[in-house]
Amino acid sequence: MPASIVAIGDELVGGFTLDTNSHWLAERLRILGYPVKRITAIRDRPKEIVEQVHRELADGEVTHVFCCGGLGPTPDDRTFAALAEALGSDLVIWQETRERIERRVKRMHEAGLLESPDVTEGNLRMARIPAEPARVFKNRRGMAPGVVYEASGKRLFVLPGVPMELKGIFTEELEPEFLSDGSAATVREVRFTFAVEAKFYPLMRELEEAFPDVSVGSYPNFETKELVIRCLGTDPKRVDAVIELVRRRSELLGMVGDSR
Ligand code: AMP
Ligand code: MG
Repeated sequence: MPASIVAIGDELVGGFTLDTNSHWLAERLRILGYPVKRITAIRDRPKEIVEQVHRELADGEVTHVFCCGGLGPTPDDRTFAALAEALGSDLVIWQETRERIERRVKRMHEAGLLESPDVTEGNLRMARIPAEPARVFKNRRGMAPGVVYEASGKRLFVLPGVPMELKGIFTEELEPEFLSDGSAATVREVRFTFAVEAKFYPLMRELEEAFPDVSVGSYPNFETKELVIRCLGTDPKRVDAVIELVRRRSELLGMVGDSR
C-alpha cells in the first residue's frame, strides 16, 4: 500500500525551512507498512497545489496521499482553498472545528496570550474546509484541523505544517484509525568502516538480478567513514539471505562488516 507525501510551503522550496515533516512521515509510514513512493515539496500557489493533488490522485499505485502545510490563519496559506478546487467541492465552515477554535481562543485570552476573546477572520479560515470530508481530526495542540477525504479510490490526508501538531494528529488520531492494516518491510543492514563502495558494484548488480524482491542500497557517510549496505523486503528470509551474501562476499574482498 504505497503512500505519497506532498509538503506545501514557500519556505520549504525556498530553502528557509527544512522539510522535517516529510522525513518524519516517511519513517512512520514505512514502519507502519505504507512505504512512501514519492515526496514532493511545492509552493503555496493554488494552481500548483491543484496540479499536484491531481497528479497524486491519478497515480494508480498510491493508496494514501498525505498533504501537509498551508493551513494557517494568514492569506499565504492556501491549501484548503486549492484542495476544494482540486476535489471539485465547496469550502464550508466545519462547525466542530469552529467551536474548538472558539474555545481555544477563549482559553488563550484567559491565559493572557491573546488580547481579545473574539475569533478573528484569520482563526476562522482554519475551520473553512473542502466539503464532504470522510473525517475531521481534532488537533489537540493547535487550531488547524487535520482532514481526510476519499477521492479516486484513495485516502487523501491533509495535515497542518507545524511539526508538533502534525505528529500529534498522526500518532493520536490518524494512525490508530486509518493505518492499522499495513505490514512493515524487514530492514537489515551491514555496516563497514573504511570500505570501498565501488568494490560492491558487481555484487549489487548480481543481487538486483537474483533478488528483485529485495531492495539493496549503498549509503556512504563521508564524515564517519562508514558505509551502510541496507536491504529492505517483505519476506524476512529473503532479506536475511541477501545480508548473508553481502557478509560472505565482502569478507572475501577483505572487508568485515557488522550486521544488524
Ligand atoms: P503552515 O501549516 O504552512 O502554516 O506551517 C506552519 C509552520 O510549520 C511554518 O512556519 C513552518 O515553520 C512549519 N512547517 C510547515 N511545513 C513544514 C515541513 N514540511 N517541515 C517542517 N516544518 C514545517
Ligand atoms: Mg505555510
